[in-house]
Amino acid sequence: MGTPISINTLLLIQDIQLLCITLVFAILAFDRWSDLTRRWLLYSCLANCAGAVIELSPVHLPSLVSQGIDPMTIPLSYALLNVAFVCFERRCRLTIWISAGFLLLSLPVFALWSGRSDPVWSNSLGDLMIAVECAITPVILLSGKERATRAPRIVMGGFLVAFALLEFARAWVAFGLHARPDSTFPALVYSSAVAYIVNVALLPLAVVWMMNARLEAELQRQIAIDPLTGVYNRRGLAPVLQRELAHYKRYRGDFSLVLLDLDRFKDLNDAYGHAAGDAVLIAVAETIRSRLRETDVLARIGGEEFLILLPHTTLPEAQAVVEVLFEAIRGKKHALPGADVQATASWGITNTSVCKNADAQELFRQADAALYRAKRTGRDRICTFSPDAFIGEFQSSASPFEPV
Ligand code: GH3
Ligand code: MG
Ligand code: MG
Repeated sequence: MGTPISINTLLLIQDIQLLCITLVFAILAFDRWSDLTRRWLLYSCLANCAGAVIELSPVHLPSLVSQGIDPMTIPLSYALLNVAFVCFERRCRLTIWISAGFLLLSLPVFALWSGRSDPVWSNSLGDLMIAVECAITPVILLSGKERATRAPRIVMGGFLVAFALLEFARAWVAFGLHARPDSTFPALVYSSAVAYIVNVALLPLAVVWMMNARLEAELQRQIAIDPLTGVYNRRGLAPVLQRELAHYKRYRGDFSLVLLDLDRFKDLNDAYGHAAGDAVLIAVAETIRSRLRETDVLARIGGEEFLILLPHTTLPEAQAVVEVLFEAIRGKKHALPGADVQATASWGITNTSVCKNADAQELFRQADAALYRAKRTGRDRICTFSPDAFIGEFQSSASPFEPV
């Protein structure tokens, strides 16, 4: 049987690990100093390093430092870690004050016990404070709702619950059983040291994982969402359209596809400026979006062209919905520099009942043909596609972009 690993070896491993993650967090923090999460992570590591430095030669230091300050450094580093996670989650601010409050309350006790010849009391108070601070961290991590960062939050939060229980056990042995945790239960020494090593290894992994998961989700969002109107763009629409078609093929139940194109939008840009045109596009998208059901899909597929998917909607139902949207867009006055103007659109509707087994391209072609007819026949109207003839034409009489 080999020689069991000594506690000094474990302490050396801890110090080397700590040095490595401090270096990584320092580079991350200096790389983007404005990022509060990175900055507080570095502070947390530095507090931990301060403890490691003091422990290099505790006998040469005043007892206030070796027994008063040293056992406080690790709880302090966990309190600072809580601040970092609150900055990352952008919520649970109250936990920072709870975390800091516990630490401040323990300060006079640490100072008082630093004069004792036996450090077991101040060390055990340190264990208790680590347990308290570590118990707060999972509250911050596990109560978050962000889907992208869920896995790393559960891994880190779950581990910290176990670590907090272990530290509570050490404190209970000292204060509850009035015994020395390390000599009464030698397993505690090793389990604490190993838990600490795992913690220091897991922390940077979980942090980088969380940052990366959020970044990836944000990139996916930016790829799929039109930055001007906040609705899907073509890229975002494609998988949604495929999913709806697959759903339709599996369960049937009609769904409708609507295209709309704002009328004479170039004239509006020319008359009132591009910024005014943008404001109208935003307002039109919002007017439509606010009137759709949660399962409906709105996408901006071109400059002033939008597509609406209406799942589980028959043709007459789609026509009724579009008439509501048509009137809502016409009825809105846009306060542009110099005048209030009204925007109108031409609409094309199709439905899966028109042509069974139509694919996305075919449905798009049908709605586009209906829209083209709405344009050709005078704009500001709704046309419904039918294989033989266009049906259900619906139009309004006033001309678009007239000051109202
Ligand atoms: P029609 O009734 O035939 O659709 O006429 P139209 O002027 O709307 O159509 P046309 O295709 O000639 O012009 C579309 C205009 O939409 C031209 C372009 O300046 C404008 N446009 C496209 N994207 C944007 C945008 O993001 N912001 C603004 N303000 N205008 C845009
Ligand atoms: Mg247009
Ligand atoms: Mg157009």
